[in-house]
Amino acid sequence: MHRLLILGGTGEASALAAGVLRRFPERIDVTSSLAGRTERPGPIAGAVRIGGFGGAAGLAAYLSERGIDLLVDATHPFAAQVSAQARAACEAAGVPRLMLRRRPWRRHPLDRWIEVEDFAAAARIVSKIGRRAWLTLGTGEVAAFADVRDVRFLVRLIDRPRAPLPLKFHEIVVGRGPFSVVAERHLIQLHAIDVLVCKASGGEATAAKLVAAREASLPVIMVRRPPAEPGEAVDTVEGALNWLEQRLAPAGRRPELRRP
Ligand code: NAP
Repeated sequence: MHRLLILGGTGEASALAAGVLRRFPERIDVTSSLAGRTERPGPIAGAVRIGGFGGAAGLAAYLSERGIDLLVDATHPFAAQVSAQARAACEAAGVPRLMLRRRPWRRHPLDRWIEVEDFAAAARIVSKIGRRAWLTLGTGEVAAFADVRDVRFLVRLIDRPRAPLPLKFHEIVVGRGPFSVVAERHLIQLHAIDVLVCKASGGEATAAKLVAAREASLPVIMVRRPPAEPGEAVDTVEGALNWLEQRLAPAGRRPELRRP
């Protein structure tokens, strides 16, 4: 029995846990790990643990103590810190690591995207572009917009924040993806949004807002992804399941071992 740890907190990670249990019953014991950011995480098949490990050293110790022999980092593309820690921990513990990183979005010819490096850069330009901005960012990330004046913000979050947001004029809407184009179009019209600010997360679950923004000819301030960690990577759950299949094959029959 192999022991797999999935670093999760994404729809892809949950789909992978379910896929592993379906495809490799009795062969892989799967545990999914969540940081504990959301109050009510969606259903996840198999075992789930919640909370930080205590950095790379803590994660390396966890891998050794639990006899984990495979790790899939299926965290969000903007969760750069935990991915760096996973790389260091797996190197230290000698555990094979795969990154499951969702496909980036591709710009449509009618899209009006303004790509920026980080949240601070987005905050610097937002008031030059619109007066009613829709932020699809996390609670911590909206802090970058604290000094912005003359803009009314609509902030969509998974949970209602525990503390007030540090924004002057704002409204909160709570929601969890996947979202439909109809719903996103409605939100844009209802709040008279004239600019969207989002992360270049990629994937299907949150892509509808880009279609709705394109239809409404809205400018989109798109914060670029942080660079990926080096290492083996796939962009689909199926790809991750195939990687696991290869790891389960007896050593002499692993495709990568047959290469010259
Ligand atoms: P991060 O900045 O990369 O990580 C911060 C710390 O949170 C890590 O050092 C680690 O604490 C802990 N952590 C993060 N992911 C964890 C996991 N899956 N299991 C256990 N501990 C974890 O991460 P983040 O951007 O705050 O994201 C936190 C979680 O939310 C991730 O699981 C991610 O997949 C999910 N998420 C993030 C975003 C986003 O935009 N950032 C969007 C959707 C979902 P220790 O150092 O104590 O181990």
